[in-house]
Amino acid sequence: MPHRVIRGVGVSPGIAVGPALVVRWGVPPVPERTIASGDVAGELSRLREAVAHVRERVERIRVRAEERTGPEEARIFDAQLLMLDDQDLVGGAERLIRDNHFTAERAFELKVLEWRSLWSSQGNAVLRDRLPDLADVEVRVLNHLLGLPERDVVDALPEVPTVIVARDLTPSLTLQMDRSAVLAIACEQGTRTSHAAILAHSLGIPAVMGLQGLLERVASGDQVVVDGWAGSVLSRPTAAEIAAAETRNRVRRQLDVELVAGATRAAATSDGEAVRVRANLDLPEELESACRSGADGVGLMRTEFLIVGRNRMPSEDEQAALYRRVGEAFGGNDVIIRTYDIGGDKFPASFRTPTEANPFLGWRAIRVCLDEPEAFRPQIRAILRAAAHAPIKLMIPLVTRIEEVEATRELVEKEARALKRSGIEAATDVPVGIMVETPAAAIIADRLAEVSDFLSVGTNDLTQYTLAVDRSNARLASRYSPHHPAVLRLLRDIRESAAAAGREVSVCGEMASEPESAYILLGLGYRVLSVAPPSLPQTKWLVGRVSARAAADCAREVLQQRTAKEATEVVHRALSEHVDLGLLDPAARLPSRRRRSSLRG
Ligand code: PEP
Ligand code: MG
Repeated sequence: MPHRVIRGVGVSPGIAVGPALVVRWGVPPVPERTIASGDVAGELSRLREAVAHVRERVERIRVRAEERTGPEEARIFDAQLLMLDDQDLVGGAERLIRDNHFTAERAFELKVLEWRSLWSSQGNAVLRDRLPDLADVEVRVLNHLLGLPERDVVDALPEVPTVIVARDLTPSLTLQMDRSAVLAIACEQGTRTSHAAILAHSLGIPAVMGLQGLLERVASGDQVVVDGWAGSVLSRPTAAEIAAAETRNRVRRQLDVELVAGATRAAATSDGEAVRVRANLDLPEELESACRSGADGVGLMRTEFLIVGRNRMPSEDEQAALYRRVGEAFGGNDVIIRTYDIGGDKFPASFRTPTEANPFLGWRAIRVCLDEPEAFRPQIRAILRAAAHAPIKLMIPLVTRIEEVEATRELVEKEARALKRSGIEAATDVPVGIMVETPAAAIIADRLAEVSDFLSVGTNDLTQYTLAVDRSNARLASRYSPHHPAVLRLLRDIRESAAAAGREVSVCGEMASEPESAYILLGLGYRVLSVAPPSLPQTKWLVGRVSARAAADCAREVLQQRTAKEATEVVHRALSEHVDLGLLDPAARLPSRRRRSSLRG
């Protein structure tokens, strides 16, 4: 590999060749001044005016984001609006003005500094990903207070299309990038789940992030090749290297056409095994893209969006209408609605919740629902009502005990009877299935299968709980692998238990959308996969490129490995015989929980 290659993480697919433009932006220097006590009131109102001004500005950017990229991406800017309403940030700055007589800009800068060091010191990937959002707000407020020009555009985007090279990009800077002027984005910092990455992907601009040493090795005007699939930047390419990059780009574009064309067809392996590929829906807005991408129904509809960030629980009518709309959208294919997976940091504002030392092992999901039947009942009733019109199923998250399934079934039966008595149109019953996402559920999958209508493996949590590795801790990312032999053995056993009981079993964790992992799952005998809508075409395509027999051989070999690394090497080698893995979309590997939480801010 030539020294001119810099490796990072591909966050938005595509290959671009062009001149680099190094963009430097930063927080403006703030003079160290204090004010006289008589000026406190004036300084406080200056700060409030600046915050109100920036708030209005961010709201306008939010509208622009909605127009350019869609409602999901627009939500990225909610995080900034929340910061501007935050009592600790703005109220804290006000206190510094009142108590320490700092100027408004100095007080705001100090509070942001405090937040930044807190967020950076915690091993929390989501918080670290949010640092550029904080910078966005900081720069805007400080610029306004210091009387500097609004920084809404990268100063002077050149006339010729360029590759933007930066240490880091904030969401609002990224939003201004236009495909006609910006060929690609390359950043030293940033991850797959940072807002800049999500926006670049939505804008269709190839992007690579996490490129260490980029700014030392690339200067403005240098020719570069950015490969958003491979996650690399090549500086000063030779003519042959440019030609090779262009060929790769062409091959990949052809593949895109194939993916779109094949998406609406039923998926089957090359040796004729039918595989259903369903959609995971986080938000109702994803419904249309799931239908367009040929989803064979919905394998997991998350319902937390109905309660997180709201101050009241959703009504039964509101839910019934929504579930019916989703249920009727897939031409008779199953739609699986997961009951509230609340807990940890995801509680409705109206809920009184105890502080817990270990929220991920705490009062969560089905535990909360069964302890608070008044909150759970409207959801069950809404599902029953929608099931009168569409093939809807109910799925319980975080199951560890048989009693949880039995108690849920009793509630379903009771509510079905009550609906009938009241003459409300509703199904008399609804299939009740479980998520297998704890080692306990995996180990007693045979017993759970006796009381459940179907099983769906949530590999995101199953991996986390089996390996005792927090799925959102960036420091532990390399230890978080569903290819660990413990997880693979559980996956094998779950499928066998479900098959023995004659129950359908699917996988709805992110593993199903990662090509290598999907190949292992096919080899282990899984025939129903559920993936985020952007991954649907690629997953269907992948299924058609491989044979079930070869996948089974590969899975057998994978199960014999001692480590996750060895297992990954085996599957990588085996799958490379059928597909060029370097051409697949990096977003397909975007963990949706992280994406979702990042969209929520
Ligand atoms: C899982 O745990 O794999 C899963 C699909 O659920 P969530 O990501 O919502 O926890
Ligand atoms: Mg889960």
